[in-house]
Amino acid sequence: MKNIPAILDILDKTYPAAKISLDFSNPLELLVATVLSAQCTDERVNQVTKELFKKYRTAADYANVPLEELEEDIRPTGFFRNKAKSLKNCGAALVEKHQAEVPDNLEELVKLPGIGRKTANVILGAAFNTPGVVVDTHVGRISQRIGLTQQRDPVKIEFDLMELIPQEKWTLLSHQLIQHGRQVCKARKPQCTECPLLEHCDHGQLTAGS
Ligand code: SF4
Repeated sequence: MKNIPAILDILDKTYPAAKISLDFSNPLELLVATVLSAQCTDERVNQVTKELFKKYRTAADYANVPLEELEEDIRPTGFFRNKAKSLKNCGAALVEKHQAEVPDNLEELVKLPGIGRKTANVILGAAFNTPGVVVDTHVGRISQRIGLTQQRDPVKIEFDLMELIPQEKWTLLSHQLIQHGRQVCKARKPQCTECPLLEHCDHGQLTAGS
């Protein structure tokens, strides 16, 4: 049985200001930035969106632009053909079904082309202040290592974390674990001896004892 309050307390003290590192000023911009962030650093996405958001201001702008033009505009983020297709289709769906507005609930968000639960939870948490557990590669990996979940599937991990963690903490915890994954609990070489979560972590305890 994990001491969840102690783990949350450590994360709060270590990463008190953890928050999303994508730049955006409205829900549509966040949706676009989140789609672009797949397999790309947030830093690179922010460089691209700085210009992109001056040119594309509404869902209709994405729906109406020729696909090749959009591909060129987002090319530096990688996987630009798939991402351009998703953004164009998503823009069209927003115009057709949501009066060109980004919906503020998970059920409708995940029906949009190219939007999965991870992206939807990012949008809910950061744009609508609605708690959501975001299971990206960092959150999944660290949750497994600590022993908060035995699951491998991101959606099952999300549900395990929702069971364990108070709802008001879902969004903050996600950003704290993402920061922890970037700085300490890295994929290849977790720095367990310097980790404040060591005494609460299954993987860390195994490594420390070996
Ligand atoms: S103790 Fe190691 S494996 Fe566990 S959270 Fe810290 S860095 Fe990651």
